[in-house]
Amino acid sequence: MEERYEGPDILSADLAGLMADPVFENEKKFRVKQVYEWLHRKNAASYEEMTNLPKALRERLAEKRPLLGCVKETMQESKIDGTRKYLFRLHDGNYVESVFMRYHHGDSVCISSQVGCRMGCAFCASTIGGLTRNLTPGEMLSQIYMIGRDTGERISNVVVMGTGEPLDNYENLVRFIRMLTDENGLNISERNVTVSTCGLAPKIRRLREEDLQINLALSLHAPTDEMRRTIMPVANRYSLDEVFDALLYYYEGNRRRLTFEYSLIAGKNDSAECAKLLAGRLSGINCFVNLIPVNPVTERDFKAPDTYFVQEFKKLLEKYGIHVTIRREMGRDIDGACGQLRKRYVKK
Ligand code: SAH
Repeated sequence: MEERYEGPDILSADLAGLMADPVFENEKKFRVKQVYEWLHRKNAASYEEMTNLPKALRERLAEKRPLLGCVKETMQESKIDGTRKYLFRLHDGNYVESVFMRYHHGDSVCISSQVGCRMGCAFCASTIGGLTRNLTPGEMLSQIYMIGRDTGERISNVVVMGTGEPLDNYENLVRFIRMLTDENGLNISERNVTVSTCGLAPKIRRLREEDLQINLALSLHAPTDEMRRTIMPVANRYSLDEVFDALLYYYEGNRRRLTFEYSLIAGKNDSAECAKLLAGRLSGINCFVNLIPVNPVTERDFKAPDTYFVQEFKKLLEKYGIHVTIRREMGRDIDGACGQLRKRYVKK
């Protein structure tokens, strides 16, 4: 693995940070704004492209503030629905995955928040090698910028549902969201940003204090603590009561409808009894359940229920008055489960 560059990271600096950077000491303010615009609105991948800057400044920046963004390594595009799965190379030789999806309501990007993950969920491919490191705000932004550059499309929705536990990289995540939704950057609406967490209760509470209008999704996957502990180690740290208290506290802050993700695993959490217990847990909460037939991971022995049973589970929840969506299967013909593309690649 290459050595990690430890100097100032220009892509992670907001406009005020850039203004204060000594590298711009003798520059006019509008020059700094131009650089910020190239980096955060025009998806620049190098200083050379910043043609309205003096050559000397471009060269100084290239030397003193190397761009630590993502570089496209490979991309797979689904012939069925145009979904694209990207594998990006980071400056230290690590890799992360991101996904581009087209929806009726606009284009959406799913980003990774860490290289690997230490949460250890039994069904998830991203956690198999543990956590390598956190992503910086710039690396999270860069996934979106480079996809915007590659597709030429305007991205309107961002979900933090790729590899990693976003709330385990809290400070960088919040900084990333502030820069993403800043009017000097992509200016994406906070309401169009969703963060998915396995349920780090204290961090959920802390997130409320940031006063953001972002949506929160909880990876629930089981209706009881007992069952949840068998597939999600984090359930040993925080009980469902603690997590739900934190979620409701968050909800009181911005009143954004909560999402509960529920990956259906055949013979594990897909019984009528589970649906009933789940409905009981969620009754009275402004939320919907997103059912995800589990994606088989080579190293794991989990299977999704047949479509018929997925539909039955949905109908049961609806009977109890719960709103349900089944995650639309995007890009069925490209590397399936989260983290699989990266794993396949890194192994080579
Ligand atoms: N750490 C965050 C983001 C994880 S990925 C979280 O836990 O929410 C986004 C969602 O995909 C989570 O709900 C995760 O539990 C789920 N997931 C991971 N691997 C899966 C698989 N093989 N099949 C179905 N869902 C999976």
